[in-house]
Amino acid sequence: MGKAIVLDGKAVAARVRAEVKTRAAEFARSRGRPPGLAVVKVGSDPASAVYVRNKRLACEEAGIKSFAFDLPDSVSREALVAQVKALNADPLVDGILVQLPLPKGLDANEIMDLVDPAKDVDGFHPYNTGLLAQKRPRLRPCTPFGVIRLAHEYGITLQGLRATVVGASNIVGRPMALELMLAGATVTVCHTRTRDLQAEVERAEIVVAAVGKPGMVRGEWIRPGAAVFDVGINRTAAGRLVGDVEYDAAAERAGWITPVPGGIGPMTIAMLLSNTLDAAVARS
Ligand code: NAD
Repeated sequence: MGKAIVLDGKAVAARVRAEVKTRAAEFARSRGRPPGLAVVKVGSDPASAVYVRNKRLACEEAGIKSFAFDLPDSVSREALVAQVKALNADPLVDGILVQLPLPKGLDANEIMDLVDPAKDVDGFHPYNTGLLAQKRPRLRPCTPFGVIRLAHEYGITLQGLRATVVGASNIVGRPMALELMLAGATVTVCHTRTRDLQAEVERAEIVVAAVGKPGMVRGEWIRPGAAVFDVGINRTAAGRLVGDVEYDAAAERAGWITPVPGGIGPMTIAMLLSNTLDAAVARS
């Protein structure tokens, strides 16, 4: 096997969840109610169903009350808007998560913009993204926040390092770049128009891959000793989960690397729980 230290996201996530559980119990004792997270699922996308179930189970295990709303594919824009507004107004709900993607015909941006920023535990509202961009983060997008926490737990100092983020989506790549800048890294962001992806990855001491294409980041591109965070989750024809990085070859060169599964995935859920606690405390 490779020389890299494998970053055990599952173990670190378990520690974060245990911290949240202690804080949730303390919150419940002092406020007379548990912190609450509303998880809204619209439609019948099978991947969303798995994510939502895992998030609800993780909540219950951490002592966070989970409020489940399962709306049909056919739900009207008006009914979904009314649901989000009702959750904004509900004092028992500290966090609101609307699982993406939404079925065709519903505008995810419109719905995200409606979520009260104080309850936006996914950190997707433009207000929270804006605060992160301005170096005063409040509720931070869970996946990039999970990468930062994992690096921190392993003592990987980001300050001054050259970081390359592959992928520029609103939910992963862009906020990842903002997080890395906040941590003091010098950041390059790659996307479909990037001319020479290999060169951008080769220079990087920190690589974050968030594309959604297996093997997109080649092992031989990894700079010796680099820290590699693989956010991608792809299912192979054989049904196996793999990331965006050519793992075995990358692990021969990297200093640290996250596995898929068991890397960033569990960290994402842990940071969602942590955000919910932060939101609950800030609101009460
Ligand atoms: P997306 O499809 O919204 O964005 C993909 C990005 O990759 C785009 O910015 C695109 O420009 C870029 N890209 C595509 N082809 C490229 C290429 N050839 N070279 C350089 N850039 C290229 O995807 P997303 O929502 O950001 O998710 C990315 C991956 O991360 C997916 O596999 C997704 O399943 C996974 N994901 C994992 C977690 C987790 O908890 N681990 C959370 C969210 C997403």
